[in-house]
Amino acid sequence: MTTLTNLLDLDPAQLVAWCGALGEKPFRAKQLQRWIHQYGASDFESMTDLAKSLRDKLKTRAIVSAPAIISDHTSTDGTRKWLVDVGNGNAVETVFIPEENRGTLCISTQAGCAVNCRFCSTGKQGFSRNLSVGEIIGQLWMAEFELRRTKGIAPGPKGERQITNVVMMGMGEPLLNYEPTVTALKLMLDDNAYGLSRRRVTLSTSGVVPMIDKLSQDCAVALAVSLHASNDKLRDNLVPLNKKYPLAELIAACKRYLDFAPRDFVTLEYCMLDGVNDTDAHARELVALIAKHDLSCKFNLIPFNPFPESGLLRSANPRIKAFAQILMDAGIVTTIRKTRGDDIDAACGQLAGEVQDRTNVQDRMQKMAGYQEKYGKNFGRIVEISE
Ligand code: SAH
Ligand code: SF4
Repeated sequence: MTTLTNLLDLDPAQLVAWCGALGEKPFRAKQLQRWIHQYGASDFESMTDLAKSLRDKLKTRAIVSAPAIISDHTSTDGTRKWLVDVGNGNAVETVFIPEENRGTLCISTQAGCAVNCRFCSTGKQGFSRNLSVGEIIGQLWMAEFELRRTKGIAPGPKGERQITNVVMMGMGEPLLNYEPTVTALKLMLDDNAYGLSRRRVTLSTSGVVPMIDKLSQDCAVALAVSLHASNDKLRDNLVPLNKKYPLAELIAACKRYLDFAPRDFVTLEYCMLDGVNDTDAHARELVALIAKHDLSCKFNLIPFNPFPESGLLRSANPRIKAFAQILMDAGIVTTIRKTRGDDIDAACGQLAGEVQDRTNVQDRMQKMAGYQEKYGKNFGRIVEISE
């Protein structure tokens, strides 16, 4: 028996080629793609404008299969978090953040992460595996149609779209899972799939320089770079990848990217760590660094989501504001991420425990209650992207 092809794994060109091999014309592939990505259909029999003969062929050769949902929680503020199964005891998170005029989906690209940044619990759990295209785009597919089902909104292009923005800021380093990530990005942008504009899709990277250049050629979406430090010595310590691609090289790559980017700035993410990278001197060093390289950028300060194993603490709010002020006084647009979803424990880089010991929910909940007692009720909050 031949193995079934998961059609969620194919980008637009690949679907055309796959249908071609079945003797079908390219417009059939487009129809099929619309059924899958615009109507959320997985049952070929429901694809009524496809010929019966094609539907029969599809049934014996293909499936449309997104990763299974392990848990699904909605916060009182509307933030919704799914934990999805990606096999072999691995799970990743997908988070939906509703705002007044848009809905942002935060998706994962790897189970675990090899970069091992000091402040990230995804990194602390090590690297498990790369997600496939179907597992990456499957998060968007699942979330869009789950959200519509919940709200009673019909599938299809006429129904109100729930997800208007996508950020690759969940688990994993997208540029270290390059091909599947780019294939998924192409589907997000394709008019016969999700039709998102390039500026509404943001990829966040810890700074894989050669892949930033490659992305500028293959699928230039909005770029966010996890900076987190104002000099190489500090960044070597916080983001180990810096030893391979130091700041000057990273910033040069950002500048080259901007020649092809849908926005005229790069977003620099900066996780605020108490006493580590958050002093006035650090802020001034950043201002000098940006000026030296004349980089067009915007800062997004992220209050650190603490986890005990890190031995790090979140900067106090007045410190974050003072830090932001120095950047703003130098003419750099700066935002501070708001926190959301605190009652459902959805936070950037905090899922390691949940992924690895999800069999023991009771234990985990107790552990979380303990953390909250120790670190305050904000522990485990998700951060929101305020661009
Ligand atoms: N690997 C990519 C994208 C995923 S992480 C990257 O590093 O950019 C998304 C963002 O969350 C990054 O800016 C990352 O540095 C930040 N982050 C990770 N752990 C965090 C934590 N504990 N608290 C706050 N932000 C965190
Ligand atoms: Fe990986 Fe990003 Fe976490 Fe660093 S911050 S360990 S690159 S997921």
